[in-house]
Amino acid sequence: QRPVPSDITISRSCVPKPIDNLAKEIGLLSDEVELFGRTKAKVQLKTLDRLQTRADGKYVVVTGITPTPLGEGKSTTTIGLVQALGAHLKLNAFACVRQPSQGPTFGIKGGAAGGGYSQVIPMEEFNLHLTGDIHAITAANNLVAAAVDARIFHEATQSDKALFNRLVPLSGGQRKFSPVQINRLDKLGIKKSDPSSLTEEEITQFVRLDIDPEAVTWQRVLDTNDRFLRKITIGQSPTEKGFTRTAQFDITVASEIMAVLALTTSLEDMRQRLAKMVVATSRSGQPVTTEDLGVCGALTVLMRDAIKPNLMQTLEGNPVFVHAGPFANIAHGNSSILADKIALKLVGPQGFVVTEAGFGADIGMEKFFNIKCRYSGLQPHVVVLVATVRALKMHGGGPSVTAGTPLPKEYLEENLTLLEAGCSNMRKQVENARLFGVPVVVAVNAFKTDTPAELDLICRLARDAGAFEAVPCHHWADGGAGALDLAKAVQRASDAPSSFRCLYDVQLPIDDKIRIIAQKIYGADDIELLPEAQQKVELYTKQGFAGLPICMAKTHLSLSHDAEKKGVPSGFVLPIRDIRASVGAGFLYPLVGTMPTIPGLPTRPCFYDIDLNAESGEVVGLF
Ligand code: ADP
Repeated sequence: QRPVPSDITISRSCVPKPIDNLAKEIGLLSDEVELFGRTKAKVQLKTLDRLQTRADGKYVVVTGITPTPLGEGKSTTTIGLVQALGAHLKLNAFACVRQPSQGPTFGIKGGAAGGGYSQVIPMEEFNLHLTGDIHAITAANNLVAAAVDARIFHEATQSDKALFNRLVPLSGGQRKFSPVQINRLDKLGIKKSDPSSLTEEEITQFVRLDIDPEAVTWQRVLDTNDRFLRKITIGQSPTEKGFTRTAQFDITVASEIMAVLALTTSLEDMRQRLAKMVVATSRSGQPVTTEDLGVCGALTVLMRDAIKPNLMQTLEGNPVFVHAGPFANIAHGNSSILADKIALKLVGPQGFVVTEAGFGADIGMEKFFNIKCRYSGLQPHVVVLVATVRALKMHGGGPSVTAGTPLPKEYLEENLTLLEAGCSNMRKQVENARLFGVPVVVAVNAFKTDTPAELDLICRLARDAGAFEAVPCHHWADGGAGALDLAKAVQRASDAPSSFRCLYDVQLPIDDKIRIIAQKIYGADDIELLPEAQQKVELYTKQGFAGLPICMAKTHLSLSHDAEKKGVPSGFVLPIRDIRASVGAGFLYPLVGTMPTIPGLPTRPCFYDIDLNAESGEVVGLF
């Protein structure tokens, strides 16, 4: 239909097939599927055991050039490509995407179900609560936060004996350690199972985590763009007896528990990761974990449904897993390993799984390879790099592009000079992808204002830069039919030789790993570790966490740390302000420059347009 109607109008014009029918079609057994209404279902992990011996399908990752703040269509291309592979080339094809955060949905960017005729439907289900996974993460995360402060309070206000009697209560006239307490004793090197046999010194060691309130690293989270929670004071009620301290909120999707969900490979593995999360450092310099707090079992219980991937469908009836949803700038930005693994088995050796890595190739894709593939052991076959005329013109020196304001005329008329200059960013991102040894297909996501000469120029320069193939695609306007050339190019690339490798050896010192990413991927001259970051390098090395991969928290709007620097910035030194550790998820994350870990709302947020139609009960205003 022309003009292309709004996303929600298109989404609603298509009646989704009952999700249990889709589940059956793709080879799931009825006892592997848990229905959430008629359009969503959770898929049980036992599916992986049943399909253990089946060969995996081809694994394709969609990434992009450095985007404008509007997004360049990675989600749209992921869905369009799967529609083309599945509905048009009649291959088994599965999309794996992230669950959107309510921060952007109600803030600046809007939903993330794709767009136009390439969407996950129903888009309002997808963009809002889905099956509650993000709420479960918020609940689990904040239980840990509450446990940390309560523990500091109880230890400060009670004697060792009183603490011991409460932590190991009398039951039937006897005291007995719980399994997590036995683990804690083990960690302390106290080989005793009878509580009455502990010496006074051992009791002190056992009951006192001795958390240094200044060294609490665990933050509270919320899935709302509430900038006033970036720095808060907690404990102000008189009942907390003066135990106030400054703390902060992060956005839920950037939390460690979200990363655990994305990177875990089984229920048992998730439990272990949830137990290893470091929440603080003790006064004597020891890491304090969720297991020390005794909360890891409860976290596993809160997360036991969230671990199952959510099945939905595209506008053309292809299966989609929506699972995990971290941001790619302040977190690792990839959907879950479990969803990809189950999908790879379900499509079988002739099929394709298309997964999406957030933002540009310098962040989402780099983390996809160096963190996600390192943990999953999966070998990717093809990188699809999404480019747009508008973003490349911006990199070539075009005026800035901001959400909510009309595009300047440079973006609406042919301008090959700006475009050619901006293709430097695409060239660098193609080179970045090729560093990992995987063939790259450039997908030029066409907008209605693009001219044939502009699309041709990008494709030619992409091939010159070393892309395996480069094709314009029109799936936003035409659905899967508009991405047929892309699908065929991906098919050809998946048969080409690929020699996937990670960029760095995890056993290298922390600063060397950061330097490799900064120099090879961002084009920095060097890195500068500011004092706080330097201290953390020393602390984590001492605590034994130096061997973890790196998850850079950097702006997505530039290859450098400065969002204003477009194209391919050079001659810069990357400032590392601080480094945090997500030991349970399994990475260290350096904060590059000033990166807020909870976004704010603009003057006119998306929520202005969102409402419920009183007559039909339908959501309006989502896009
Ligand atoms: P990303 O995943 O890269 O952030 P999205 O796929 O979410 O980008 O697309 C961002 C926005 O741009 C969405 O609102 C989408 O509908 C719109 N969009 C994507 N491709 C096109 C296109 N070719 N023409 C017009 N709008 C598009």
